[in-house]
Amino acid sequence: MSCCDPTPVRRRIVVTGVVQGVGFRPFVARRALVRDLTGFVRNDPAGVTIEAEGEEDAVDAFIRDLTELAPPLAHILSVTATPLNMLGTAGFAIRPSAHDGARTALIPPDADVCPDCLRELFDPADRRYRYPFITCVNCGPRYTLITALPYDRPNTTMRRFPLCERCLAEYTDPTNRRFHAEPVACAACGPTLTFRDAAFTPLAADPLAETVTRLKAGEIVAIKGIGGYHLACDPAAPGAVERLRQLKERGGKPFALMLRDQATLNRLVTTDQPSLALLGSVARPIVLLPKRDETLWPSVAPGNRLLGVMLPYTPLHHLLFADGGFDALVMTSGNRADEPIVYEEEDARESLRGIADAYLTHDRPIETRADDSIERIMAHGPVVLRRSRGYAPTPILLDRDYPTTLGVGGEMKNTFCLIKGRFAYLGPHGGDLKYAPVYDAYVAGIERLMRFLDIDRVDAVGCDLHPAYLSTRYADLWRQQGVSVYGVQHHAAHAFSLIAERGINGPLLAVAFDGTGYGDDGAVWGGEFLRIAGATWRRVGTTTSLPLPGGEAAIREPWRIALALLDELFGDALPPLPFLNGLDADRKRMVLQMSRARINTPRSSGAGRHFDAVAALTGLCPVAGYEGHAALTLEMACAEGDSPPYPVRIDDGAVATLSLDDAYRALVADLLDGASPATVAARFHATLIDGAARMVARLRVDEAVGLTGGVFQNRRLSDALASRLAADGIPSICRHSRVPPNDGGIALGQALVAARLHLSGVGA
Ligand code: ZN
Ligand code: ZN
Ligand code: FE
Repeated sequence: MSCCDPTPVRRRIVVTGVVQGVGFRPFVARRALVRDLTGFVRNDPAGVTIEAEGEEDAVDAFIRDLTELAPPLAHILSVTATPLNMLGTAGFAIRPSAHDGARTALIPPDADVCPDCLRELFDPADRRYRYPFITCVNCGPRYTLITALPYDRPNTTMRRFPLCERCLAEYTDPTNRRFHAEPVACAACGPTLTFRDAAFTPLAADPLAETVTRLKAGEIVAIKGIGGYHLACDPAAPGAVERLRQLKERGGKPFALMLRDQATLNRLVTTDQPSLALLGSVARPIVLLPKRDETLWPSVAPGNRLLGVMLPYTPLHHLLFADGGFDALVMTSGNRADEPIVYEEEDARESLRGIADAYLTHDRPIETRADDSIERIMAHGPVVLRRSRGYAPTPILLDRDYPTTLGVGGEMKNTFCLIKGRFAYLGPHGGDLKYAPVYDAYVAGIERLMRFLDIDRVDAVGCDLHPAYLSTRYADLWRQQGVSVYGVQHHAAHAFSLIAERGINGPLLAVAFDGTGYGDDGAVWGGEFLRIAGATWRRVGTTTSLPLPGGEAAIREPWRIALALLDELFGDALPPLPFLNGLDADRKRMVLQMSRARINTPRSSGAGRHFDAVAALTGLCPVAGYEGHAALTLEMACAEGDSPPYPVRIDDGAVATLSLDDAYRALVADLLDGASPATVAARFHATLIDGAARMVARLRVDEAVGLTGGVFQNRRLSDALASRLAADGIPSICRHSRVPPNDGGIALGQALVAARLHLSGVGA
């Protein structure tokens, strides 16, 4: 053979990631045909195994195709190729699955309806014309209907719908878009809709037509979706949104809107290329975007410049918009305040009684609940604030194999995390564990994911240091079974979640600006600078602490923090700020007595508490209507343009302290001089940015710098601090994107620390 002849080779190619149930094998077979290769492809527990034989260049090109041209729902984590001896085979086959051995094939997340199915949905000639459960291998529910692995129809909630002859023909034809599309169905064999009245009694009416009529009449309809029920109403119907707000005991917390199409999006909110790409992505998250017209539907997101919007993502949503002609529908999680999203019929009838005027349900069971995910676009790209439908349980690829480990999460915005091998699986958003139904769903969710991943027992557990968190107590149950449980400081867990997400090797200086977290010393932390290496953390810097008269009550009523702070800074000569006039004299006296005597007045270095203090001092938000209200109000209030920081000081010591005392004196003077709340809000942001940057300059050796903690949901703060640090010459600045900066991410950090400690033989 001369040197110029093409060399035939045979390779075994192993692809890991989300490659099952997403049309990967037919895709591989098509690419093999295009590249003129022979061999076979099959699913196996590790993912997909291919043997391909042909010219070396063609095989190399084929390997590139696997990642570059992969089907829309595939998520490839690794492709490895090893040489084999030539066999001289003919043809390229899709072989049956090898279903023994360890289960590591990944569970696909749920996806929106694809353009092909959407076209068929509205094509009167198609046999699935107007069928609300139309789906194919490139679209539709996955995670929420899988009951076990491997992902095959008998292991989904679709097992109760035997395929009709025509569906079966498509399902078994490798050239068909519905080949092994497990949720495939049609009107003859699949799930159907039912309309039910307020008492959950089925009505004979056409379900879709009746839903449209009720929504137009201003009623609240509970609509069963992919991961649970939405409570829907038409924002254009007078009084509907206000009534929903009142019945859901929602305070001023914003509702999300589902908008008809991209044209409506562009009309209602300010979009750009990244936000449109995100809104149109298969995960279809809620994206927070600036309102174009603050007067339109003011009760949807009162006092908020942002609107949470999403596009229709199920065939049912598309039918509703087409039939009803709505521009928008309020689509909020179907639950009572603080309860988990409702996903079972029985639960819907009980929990939504008195809220829903009617129900649009169906008989495709939901196995795993999942709320809509929420994201915000920042200068570096999208940041997930709530990671659920469309993302869970796509794993994060870690730096190496680890012992099987559970991270139990925090308390509010709870999620859990399981590490198996090199993958960290973050469960869907749960909620506040203090509420019994949320806790029950949490324990069931952990057990379910363990079953999916074929985990009987974990080697290690990571939990918060807070002894009263229910997640910490849950970790104790594992300890009692002899499992090593490692306590991980709350803000260190935030930092390690960033390390896991970004694959950071080497040390990190973490700026953890957060609400509340239990410190190594038992104090309340949240404005911390942590030096992280390996599995260890050290607090090297912190922020002035603030008094919280009444503890939790001070977080709900930021005026308490502001009042106690003024008392500390100015004593009896309280500056005459307008917000003080609105306070009840007796309650004012009580708070002052409490804070002066240090009774029930913990101190917190939480950056979130500084936002609370300033939100009250400016009069913008003396009382919070919901979690994060004060911080959001302050961010939204910021004046545009140049805002010089107030003066900060750094007190050196074993732990350096960013002192904001001078800043508060200057801020109060500014307010007394008549500065507007908007100006003060902007200058306060500038102050924190300047202070954090100075602390980083003081503390950093040569590490990367990471921004983490719930306060970094604030775009203004996150973007401006990142650009300031870059301007200061720091080469590597890490921010969150696929894992929430808030407590929804800490389970991942806990799990990583516990896994690393366990691996290195450190006792719990
Ligand atoms: Zn489809
Ligand atoms: Zn059928
Ligand atoms: Fe936190």
